[in-house]
Amino acid sequence: MSFSKLQLAPAILKAVTNCGYKHPTPVQAEAIPPALGGRDVIASAQTGTGKTAAFVLPALQRLLQSSPKSRKGPSVLILTPTRELAEQITQATRTYGRHLPFKSVTIVGGMPYRDQFRALDQKPDLLIATPGRLIDHMERGSVDLSSVHLLVLDEADRMLDMGFIDDVEKITAAVPGKRQTL
Ligand code: AMP
Repeated sequence: MSFSKLQLAPAILKAVTNCGYKHPTPVQAEAIPPALGGRDVIASAQTGTGKTAAFVLPALQRLLQSSPKSRKGPSVLILTPTRELAEQITQATRTYGRHLPFKSVTIVGGMPYRDQFRALDQKPDLLIATPGRLIDHMERGSVDLSSVHLLVLDEADRMLDMGFIDDVEKITAAVPGKRQTL
């Protein structure tokens, strides 16, 4: 299968081509079509098999299709268990979104709050966060999750292993029930 069969927007396809990718990996070929169709998707594949692009590409495409006019906060929220993963995902959103106007912000523990307040004020389209620090911002009122229409739980099994169940439940309760979940 070629990437062009996946019905990705030309700007996204161009970024993927710039990366030198010829074909979607198996998890991408399986997950991207239903994700683009608006369905919830659970995908399980080993590290290094292209899972990040399997959710970042549909997330970018959904942003292209959504009308951001009255948005109070991010449209896409990606939760991930560690700071390192959050940084990798942020990099991926920049790489695959290089021909798009969207703004990503990363909110992780161990980083200064002041910079994060400022970043959140700039109304990012995508928010990539670890659960604990995101809860802190929710409690301080510095993030509004009421516009999220796509929630990604990256490495959901690991988030549960790391004891994030209560945090993840609190966050999922704060995003609209009518949303897509990957
Ligand atoms: P991940 O599993 O998301 O951490 O991705 C592992 C590596 O595979 C990353 O370095 C990606 O840049 C690369 N990658 C992702 N999708 C593809 C693809 N379709 N073809 C070739 N490399 C890819």
